[in-house]
Amino acid sequence: MDTVIAQLAQLRQLDSGNPHMARVGRVAQASMQLGAKYRHIQQEWERIKDDPSLRLDLSEPHRCHSLFCQRNLEEPLQVCGGCQGVAYCSPECAKAGWSVHKLVCAGRKRDMENRPRFKAILEQFPWTSRGAFISCILVQFGLLGVDRIQVGYWAYNVKDGTIWADFNNHLAPWEPLILSEQRGWRLPEAQIPSLENLHLANAMCPRFPPAFEESWRSYYEWRGLPITSPAALLLHWPLAVYACLKALGIAPVHNCGFRRSLTVHYIGAEDELTFLRVFGELALLFPNTDLDIIMFGPSVSKAVESGITMDYTESARPLVFEYTSPASCGSGTIRIFLDGHSTIYLPSRGSAEQPDAIVALHAGLGTDSSWYPVIYQAAELSIPFAVTDYDEASIMAIRLDLMEQALTCAQPSKGSTRATEKEKALFDVFKRGLRDITVVDIQGAAARLRKADKRTTLLNDFMCPAVTM
Ligand SMILES: [Zn+2]
Ligand SMILES: [Zn+2]
Repeated sequence: MDTVIAQLAQLRQLDSGNPHMARVGRVAQASMQLGAKYRHIQQEWERIKDDPSLRLDLSEPHRCHSLFCQRNLEEPLQVCGGCQGVAYCSPECAKAGWSVHKLVCAGRKRDMENRPRFKAILEQFPWTSRGAFISCILVQFGLLGVDRIQVGYWAYNVKDGTIWADFNNHLAPWEPLILSEQRGWRLPEAQIPSLENLHLANAMCPRFPPAFEESWRSYYEWRGLPITSPAALLLHWPLAVYACLKALGIAPVHNCGFRRSLTVHYIGAEDELTFLRVFGELALLFPNTDLDIIMFGPSVSKAVESGITMDYTESARPLVFEYTSPASCGSGTIRIFLDGHSTIYLPSRGSAEQPDAIVALHAGLGTDSSWYPVIYQAAELSIPFAVTDYDEASIMAIRLDLMEQALTCAQPSKGSTRATEKEKALFDVFKRGLRDITVVDIQGAAARLRKADKRTTLLNDFMCPAVTM
């Protein structure tokens, strides 16, 4: 894969004439070599597409939940009385499993209660019924690059038999930014949530002010998209940001007499760097607003570093995307900056650039202790903070005591606070993938944080209507 990147870099230097289109053509050429990689997925899909077991299985667990046992169960013999969400083969295993399960039982209970709503969200789309796994959906739509040119936002890659969005080994992060909307989405025009076309004279702009219920179906309707469009598989990123900001009380302003500025720190951006332009949707959702999103995280730093040959990456915090919606849609502006300063994010005290909010999507709060100082400091500085996470258990597992411990060290040591392998294994049992389902709002002063747990969770109606694997 490195060779492809090297080739791209070389080609880029040779580029002249219309830099955008020439570059896209060459990216396509280099990417074609990767197409063969997806052939076996296509074959596999043909083989299994009518298998009902591909449907998302929300039925009862079928393995003994004790880590020391994990034997397959014909039927659950002993179900956890707290959450009704895990089963054991015997009372002995139930007893043995409780020492670890008790950490997540309450979270699991909330998951179980929310199941009908998760299911309803998934079932809004006709294509989820033929296998809710994202790779299968993409194969159905011919978007995985099987035997065809692999350019666009659907830059998925195969690693260990699993499909991951993988911008690092695929296209350089700026490549999708120079694609036309059509080449980015690679969908029939009617299925694209177009931003570019809204500026055309005969454009069918979505109604202003934005009016939709908090559901995909309603959003599609407002946006003029047919429910057959798989656009939600990418739109769930900007819409989850929207859901987070709304949950924090930063509601859109529709009054045209008033314009405001918002700065949002977006932590841990990874896959979404491949399709940043999709975030232009936020300009429609936040009319009369100048919304600056500054992205942080290891992948972001890497992207800035690797981008040194591009003109705009000479800055350590390049502006990589900007979009303003037409006046008829409320003239919202969104700008995305990538912060290349550091791989570790901390909102700094007294800094002029204290954000209006911090958001993170699919954060994994409960499994990664490097979140603790961020959570704590956000609380201390009263910066509204919201995340979507994999499941309730992950959020319930935030250990406030560990968080405080982490802060007593001048340099928080990852080793001492990281969840043990055993604890980690537990968070994985539903293999939820990108089903971002909850919003956490940790807000308030440090003292309050110590006294009481300020976590609140809400269901994110705009979660990804598929799972990753
Ligand atoms: Zn057992
Ligand atoms: Zn339980």
